[in-house]
Amino acid sequence: MEQFPFVPKRAFFEPDALDYPLGQKIFQTLKELGVPIQNTPSHNRVTGIPGKTPQEQYFEGKNTMVVGIRRSKDFQTCKPSAHYQLPLNTSCSGKCEYCYLNTTLGKKPYLRVYVNIDEILEKTQEYINENVPEITIFEGAATSDPLPTEPFTGNLAKTIEFFAHHKYGRFRFVTKFTNVESLLHIEHNKQTRFRFSLNSDYVISKFEHSTPSLKERIAAAGKVSEAQYPLGFIIGPIIIYEGYKKEYNRLFANLRETLNPKAFPDLAFELITHRYTKKAKNQILEVFPHTELPMDEEKRQYKYGQFGYGKYVYPKESMGELKHFFQEQINKFFPEAEISYFI
Ligand code: SF4
Repeated sequence: MEQFPFVPKRAFFEPDALDYPLGQKIFQTLKELGVPIQNTPSHNRVTGIPGKTPQEQYFEGKNTMVVGIRRSKDFQTCKPSAHYQLPLNTSCSGKCEYCYLNTTLGKKPYLRVYVNIDEILEKTQEYINENVPEITIFEGAATSDPLPTEPFTGNLAKTIEFFAHHKYGRFRFVTKFTNVESLLHIEHNKQTRFRFSLNSDYVISKFEHSTPSLKERIAAAGKVSEAQYPLGFIIGPIIIYEGYKKEYNRLFANLRETLNPKAFPDLAFELITHRYTKKAKNQILEVFPHTELPMDEEKRQYKYGQFGYGKYVYPKESMGELKHFFQEQINKFFPEAEISYFI
């Protein structure tokens, strides 16, 4: 049987989802795994997920899978890293305290997978065609981590294979998960950038609940480098704590030892320092009241945002030190790599 990093406690099927072969396949798999299945009458209102307190609602939501159809025809833009989001699913089984989706997915962040992948890829094709001869880039992880539900859907593999044959399209996604086996032997033609989100052991064990360890992620990245995908790494959120330099240094050293050197010339690093909004902080405190995330406004600098709400970032001096440290580490271990950005 396939490897399932995530098996939900319950599943819901939206109207018409069983009309699609993929809907049928997911239904069978869930049944074999003994997951209780119900129908949900509406595609935008799922009732029947238990939970009274914000914590219960969050954890029960994360244990629920909703199988549905992506109805909206248009893709959202995804600046600056890609042109469009490519919607394969939403949410994920990880429970990272600072998840970037916490403020957008509602109180019960259930995992939703789409069964009309062929229609989604047809739409992708239209966007690519509109832009020829320009290359159009699509992001597959804007609203989810796409790996935990991949054994149910195979949507990611199908998308990677789709892009392998599209001269004017590129695909990218990022994951913290390690069930990469089903993606290693498919045709990708170097048109997909496979990115891993990494962090130090301390940060992962403290804040990234229900996700694989750093060691496992690096091992998975090693396998992906053998499969010759263009690779990328998001290091973030970068957190300052006692001994952080030693741990991040070890991260780069281990990465260098594990990756196939053939991957080195085409590596891209995205570096994101820890930041938070007032809204995110309140939400984190509701679900994780004992969080040890550094969220003391006194020790932060307030940075005004585009839409009127600002973020608390590290003060200028600390930012300078972090930037210098990470540039130095990357230059030392991966001199050929590109640093896409540091924020
Ligand atoms: S793995 Fe990514 S998408 Fe999932 S909870 Fe963590 S940050 Fe959010």
